Amino acid sequence: MTVDTNVVIIGAGPAGLTAARRLSELDIEYTLISREDRPGAYKACGGYVPGRVLDEFGLNQIPDAHDVRSIRMKFPGLEMKRVDFDQPVGVNVNRENLGKALLGKIEGDPGEIWLETECGLIESSSDGCIVRYTKENESGLISSNLIIDASGANPVSLRFNPVRNRPTNSQIGYAVQYQMKTKRSLDIVNDFFYGSEFSPRGYAWNFPRGHETVLGTGGIIDTIRTSEKRTTTYLDNLVENTDPTTNELQNAGYEIVQREAALMPLAGIVSPSYGKRIMLAGDAACQCSPITGEGIHYSMSGGQKAAEVAIECVRKKDFTDKALSRYENSWTKAFGSDLKWGLWLQKRFLESGSSSMGSTFLRSDKSTRVIAEMLAGARTVRSAILAAAPGYLVSKIRRA
Ligand SMILES: Cc1cc2nc3c(=O)[nH]c(=O)nc-3n(C[C@H](O)[C@H](O)[C@H](O)COP(=O)(O)OP(=O)(O)OC[C@H]3O[C@@H](n4cnc5c(N)ncnc54)[C@H](O)[C@@H]3O)c2cc1C
Repeated sequence: MTVDTNVVIIGAGPAGLTAARRLSELDIEYTLISREDRPGAYKACGGYVPGRVLDEFGLNQIPDAHDVRSIRMKFPGLEMKRVDFDQPVGVNVNRENLGKALLGKIEGDPGEIWLETECGLIESSSDGCIVRYTKENESGLISSNLIIDASGANPVSLRFNPVRNRPTNSQIGYAVQYQMKTKRSLDIVNDFFYGSEFSPRGYAWNFPRGHETVLGTGGIIDTIRTSEKRTTTYLDNLVENTDPTTNELQNAGYEIVQREAALMPLAGIVSPSYGKRIMLAGDAACQCSPITGEGIHYSMSGGQKAAEVAIECVRKKDFTDKALSRYENSWTKAFGSDLKWGLWLQKRFLESGSSSMGSTFLRSDKSTRVIAEMLAGARTVRSAILAAAPGYLVSKIRRA
């Protein structure tokens, strides 16, 4: 079959845009289709990006990025603990600015980017793939050898041409957020709040960006459904009745400018992430930390790896599941451990409650720093657990 383009990428988030960048670098023809006019502009996100991502993907020029050098953590029964770093551990960014930076990295012209275009029906067979799209009320079909489905937590392909089952409500998180503006500048310190005061057994966050901040909370859908409190009640409590946050917001003169809610996949490693000429990347592949909900880094890495496998497939004209399986090997090797151990930590958290998490892991200044490094994405989850956990847990983990 003659195809319109080699690869159709669905979605202009970190996964899709990074896949497009890699295909461009290696001169492979593609079409990226996404529904928004400005990538990232409408994405509910805390916008924290770990420093190692900026280095790995050459993203040191994100407009209006705020260096993060301090983390505060609140666990039940313990005072809020602050950890300061000599160097920035990451940046807080507005997602539209991240979108601009990722778009700016796409060089050359082997690809086309169709924004304000909705993908609908997807079909694939041993001959190729067909994607139905709608732009300005007009529908069309585009054919390709492969699809990289980077369409987020509720992926298009799972609706029309699933390569696997949808994650269950015990594997998906739901988060609500307030985007806020302040009259006076806030200190750039990222806060993590654990405990039933702040979330339905998930966690809450506050990630400031000078005269803006993002406050959010969330948990696993199953837990939220049985919670007696509405999720926004936790958030209002954080804004109105929780020092130091309430005090700092009031001193800065805050205004809530946007209320938003979104899903986050918190399932650990979900397999398969490929099949029928389709590779799932980013949130679509559940490439998101089960313990913090952070997924920008993993999505970029997943998108890049999907593109690299697509390139090999196009060059060898081999689009079989066996050829695509290299994708899953590659991403699980790169960051599967973080998802696996993140899920382990999440389950412990859900089963034994966050107070036991605090007493298990925050026993000394050294272990507190280690957990802060993990939350900041400066350390792998497994290495943090090994460095901060008591001896009996360490030997159990080493055997796993
Ligand atoms: C409240 C919240 C806070 C978060 N905070 C952080 C954080 O601070 N740091 C962090 O690292 N991660 C955070 N995350 C996770 C992070 O936002 C995601 O992991 C990341 O955006 C996933 O990237 P992606 O490219 O896979 O998907 P997305 O960024 O969701 O992009 C999906 C793309 O697909 C497009 N699309 C979807 N369906 C269609 C369709 N039918 N047709 C055309 N286009 C379509 C969308 O328009 C979008 O462009 C947060 C998530 C939530 C919900």
